[in-house]
Amino acid sequence: MIEFSHLYKSYDKKIHALKDINLKIDSGEFVFLTGPSGAGKSTFFKMITGYDNPTSGKITVGNFDLNAIKEYDLATYRRKLGIVFQDFKLLPDRTVYENVCLPLRIQKHHESFIKKRALEVLDLVGLSEKIEQFPEYLSGGEQQRTAIARAIIHQPGVLIADEPTGNLDPEMSSKIIDVFEKVCAQGTTVVIATHDHELVKRKNKKVIELMNGAVHRMSL
Ligand code: ADP
Repeated sequence: MIEFSHLYKSYDKKIHALKDINLKIDSGEFVFLTGPSGAGKSTFFKMITGYDNPTSGKITVGNFDLNAIKEYDLATYRRKLGIVFQDFKLLPDRTVYENVCLPLRIQKHHESFIKKRALEVLDLVGLSEKIEQFPEYLSGGEQQRTAIARAIIHQPGVLIADEPTGNLDPEMSSKIIDVFEKVCAQGTTVVIATHDHELVKRKNKKVIELMNGAVHRMSL
């Protein structure tokens, strides 16, 4: 479970990026995080990933109290997350297959297990035909799906994606969301930041809407 309690985040004492956030996201839930640019979505993610600390208040994810977490535990914690970055962050000199395997290589799994999982997730995102390709020869949607495969290969407890359908046509957006739903059905908590109102309307999921750093509306 992800829990925010009276969480504030300010920059330079005058920019209040998050203000008194109080909410719970249950394990295995699928949540859309919406709100206009500057509403605090990226800051919200930085709180969950531990890339920044709250100014005050509390955030816990599962058994991890992120306020008090030690550097060593933070590394352990981050290995339980899957993150799909807006700009994908694929390694240009590695093939699709090698990019996707990376989290399991870092965790020093056996080659046979890595191969099995890599082929599974590449099949899930529809990239089985592209495993030997380098990122620069992929379309935007294919790069996006490679980034998603890499984010889910280690079966993370929490998957976070920042505007994962931002540059995709509606058909591809739908396919990407289907993949997230499948991952969620396997027990991963999924939090997706999006501007795509049509997509949010179409899917009957929990929605957290931020406005000026505060929770403006929360559905379900
Ligand atoms: P969103 O992701 O919804 O566009 P952000 O979380 O990026 O919103 O930003 C929320 C507010 O915090 C904005 O006013 C932004 O300018 C400010 N902000 C975000 N990060 C920083 C930072 N590192 N330093 C100063 N201000 C920041």
